Amino acid sequence: MRKITVIGTGYVGLVSGTCFAEIGNRVVCCDVDETKIAKLRQGEIPIYEPGLKELVERNAANERLYFTTDVGEAIQASDIIYIAVGTPMSETGEADMRYVMQAAKIIGENLNNYKIIVNKSTVPVGTGQLVRMVVQANKKYPWTRFDVVSNPEFLREGSAIADCMNMDRAVIGSDSEQALEIIAQLHEPFGTRIFKTDLESAEMIKYAANTFLATKISFINSIANICERVGANVMHVAEGMGLDSRIGGKFLQAGIGYGGSCFPKDTFALAHIADKAGYDFELLKSVIRTNQKQRYVVMSKLREALGGLTGKQIAVLGLAFKPETDDMRYAPSLTIIPELLKQGASVRAYDPIAVDAARVQLPPEVHYYDHVEQTVIGCDACVILTEWQDIVEMDLGTIRSFLNQPIIVDGRNCFSLEAMQEHGFEYHSIGRPTIN
Ligand code: NAD
Repeated sequence: MRKITVIGTGYVGLVSGTCFAEIGNRVVCCDVDETKIAKLRQGEIPIYEPGLKELVERNAANERLYFTTDVGEAIQASDIIYIAVGTPMSETGEADMRYVMQAAKIIGENLNNYKIIVNKSTVPVGTGQLVRMVVQANKKYPWTRFDVVSNPEFLREGSAIADCMNMDRAVIGSDSEQALEIIAQLHEPFGTRIFKTDLESAEMIKYAANTFLATKISFINSIANICERVGANVMHVAEGMGLDSRIGGKFLQAGIGYGGSCFPKDTFALAHIADKAGYDFELLKSVIRTNQKQRYVVMSKLREALGGLTGKQIAVLGLAFKPETDDMRYAPSLTIIPELLKQGASVRAYDPIAVDAARVQLPPEVHYYDHVEQTVIGCDACVILTEWQDIVEMDLGTIRSFLNQPIIVDGRNCFSLEAMQEHGFEYHSIGRPTIN
C-alpha cells in the first residue's frame, strides 16, 4: 500500500486517483476548487463519467480515497505526489504551464521527506526538469530529497475507468532508477505492460501518440472529402484500409473532425514545441488546418441542401465533443452552432448529458430540449454532431414525420445509406454518396 496524493481532481486526477485506490493504495485527491471537493465529499461526482460514481463510493467507504482542498497537508502525508492539473491551450497555442508550476511550488514548500513527484499532466518536453528546479527552489527543508517521474495519461473520457484499470501500457520516465522501480511496482496490480524510459522521452511519447491519432483523423477526413468528389464511400475505404494490420481500423472514422480537451491543444502545443526547437512541423500544421476546415463541411452541406440558412430552423443533435461525456472543450458544436445563428438560422439543440456545460458556452438564442423527437419538431433539417446511443437509435419514422423537411446532415456517419433511403430522407453524410 502506497500513500499517494493527486494534485488536480479533474477528469484525469479523479479517475486515476480512484483507480489507484481501487488497487489498494491510500489516495488523497486534492483541488483548489472548493465546490468540486465539497461535492465529492458528499458523494457527488462533478463530471459525467460512466462507472465513476460507484468506484468513488466504494473506495471512499473503504477509507482508501479522500478529498481535500488542503494541498499542503496532503503532500506532507504522502510519499508519491501525482500532478494532474490542467495544461490548457494558451492564447499563443502553447500549453499553459501555470497550474503545473503552482503545483511544483506547493510541493517544494511541503516536502518533509523523500517523495516521488510524478507528472501525469500532458506537458512540453523539459517540464520534468523545470518541476525539479521549482521544487528545489521552494524547499522548506534543504535536506529533503525527491525524484521526478513522467507518467503520462492515455485514458479516454467516456471509457476512462476501463482505460485506466486495463491500460494498454504504462509509460514511466525518469533518470532515477529507484523512482522508476517504485512507480513500476505501483502499476503492477493493473497487470499492464510497463515501458520505462527517460523523462524527456516519456513527455514526448504523450504528444507523439496524441498527434499521431489526430493525424489519422485528419487523413481519413481528407480521404472522405475526395471520396465525395469521385463517388467512393469512405466507410468502405476505411474498412478496407483498416484490415491491413500495419494500419489498423481505429481512428479511421470520417466525420467533423476531432475536438475535446486533448487533441486540439496537444496538436497546437507540439507544433509550438517543434517551432521552438527549430523544426517546422509542416505535417502537423496541416493536420490542424484540415481539422479546422472539416467542421465547415457540415455547414456547406446544410446551406446547399436548404438553399441558404436565413430563416431556417435547424435541429442540432449532440453537443458534447463525443458520446459518454459532458466535456464541451473544443466541441465542434461550439463552432457550428454560432455559425448557424450568424447565418440567420434558429437552433433547437439536444444532448442527453452535456446541456448544462453547453448552455454556458453557447449563445442564449439556442433552445434546448429533453428528447430527440421533441427537438426536431418543425425543423427544416436535422444535423448530427455527436453519435450518442439514443441519437443513433432514434426512431427514423417518427423523426421524418416531425421534421418540416426530411433532411439529415450527419457529421458522424451514424446511419446506413439503405436505412435513409428506406425512410425517404434526403441524407448528407461525410465521404459517402448523398441520398436524395
Ligand atoms: P481538468 O481541467 O478536468 O482538471 C484539472 C483540475 O486541476 C481542476 O479541477 C483544477 O481546479 C485543478 N487545479 C488547477 N490548479 C491546481 C492547483 N494548483 N492545485 C490543485 N488543483 C489544481 O483537466 P483534465 O482533463 O483532468 O486534464 C489534466 C491533464 O491531463 C491535462 O494536462 C490533460 O492534457 C491531461 N490529459 C487529459 C485527458 C482527458 O481526457 N481529459 C486524457 C489524458 C491526459
